[in-house]
Amino acid sequence: MIPLLDLKAQYLSIKEDVDSAVKRVLEKQDFILGEDVVKLEEEIAAYSGAKYAVGVASGTDALMLSLRALGIGAGDEVITTPFTFAATAESISNAGAKPVFTDIDPHTYNIDPGLIESKITDKTRAILVVHLYGQCADMDPILDIAKRHNLKIVEDCAQSIGAAYKGRKSGSMGDAGCISFFPSKNLGGMGDGGMIITSNSGLRDKTRMLRVHGSNKRYLHDILGYNSRLDNLQAAVLRVKLRRLDSWITSRQNLALRYDELLSGVTGLVVPYRADYSTHTYHLYVVRLSRRDGLIDFLAKNGIESRAYYPVPLHLQKCFAFLGYSKGLFHNAEDASDRITALPVYPELNEKDQAGVADLVKEFFRFEA
Ligand SMILES: *Cc1c(COP(=O)(O)O)cnc(C)c1O
Repeated sequence: MIPLLDLKAQYLSIKEDVDSAVKRVLEKQDFILGEDVVKLEEEIAAYSGAKYAVGVASGTDALMLSLRALGIGAGDEVITTPFTFAATAESISNAGAKPVFTDIDPHTYNIDPGLIESKITDKTRAILVVHLYGQCADMDPILDIAKRHNLKIVEDCAQSIGAAYKGRKSGSMGDAGCISFFPSKNLGGMGDGGMIITSNSGLRDKTRMLRVHGSNKRYLHDILGYNSRLDNLQAAVLRVKLRRLDSWITSRQNLALRYDELLSGVTGLVVPYRADYSTHTYHLYVVRLSRRDGLIDFLAKNGIESRAYYPVPLHLQKCFAFLGYSKGLFHNAEDASDRITALPVYPELNEKDQAGVADLVKEFFRFEA
């Protein structure tokens, strides 16, 4: 069986360090906002090229607290992509604002900067950019639009930690960058976790307050906040993993290059596009197919996991029906939803297994053609 991701193999490769980090926290019993959270915040800020980082309970909370700290809420509109995980737009709605979708670039699957300006109204307050699959969206034109229209930029870096746009790390370009430590992410904890990165000290202070019930002094609450803290146990584990992150990303990049070669020339399949302005950390290795029907089942029957990330774009999800969008509005997002599939990619995947995956994909398409 070849899974999409093998977390057990990752754990076994770093077991000693993880176990002793957990033991250290158990001995200290500093579970809430303890020393490891503070250290991880410093380390992630330095890694990301931002001045500050604020640990929170999840990537979703990182998004929502960032929006709230930027003063975005009822009556405001936030422009974003419909081709992403639900949390992106969910956080806009839960902050009280309205998500406004615009279509993606068909090659990178990231928001198409050329379509953003037509969506700006006098209610638009921010652009929520997602760096999907580990590749940065084309930020320069987006930053330029934001500047001209006085909009905030929040970066959803749940899938892109370590990716760089023209040398600038994802999350460090906008007002706030939002990281997820969900176990399957490139830097994943052993449970939920997230972090906000920013170089704005006001935003740092506000998000720090929001994560502890709107308080910066015990039992004095200036604003309505949340209970949204990063666990110290998670932070201790994440610090062990952060030291390996760059080498894990390199392994993913090498695997991706190899898939590109193994799958080149397969009719009906397009390998991931690499934009020249960004590095790609391959959180997911996603291929585009002439038709997807049957491939996922065929691979599953042969012991290989693959998955459509994401099969339904957000404008067609039931939870966003109240926004009033309909099918046919965002052709590129809808087409991608119908045609893409993620193949197994993780640092511990060996070349033999990877070649086996590629052989089966080729076999399927030969049979199909
Ligand atoms: C995983 C993910 C999130 C949410 O992160 P959680 O830590 O699971 O809350 C948000 N946006 C994108 C694009 C994601 O992939």
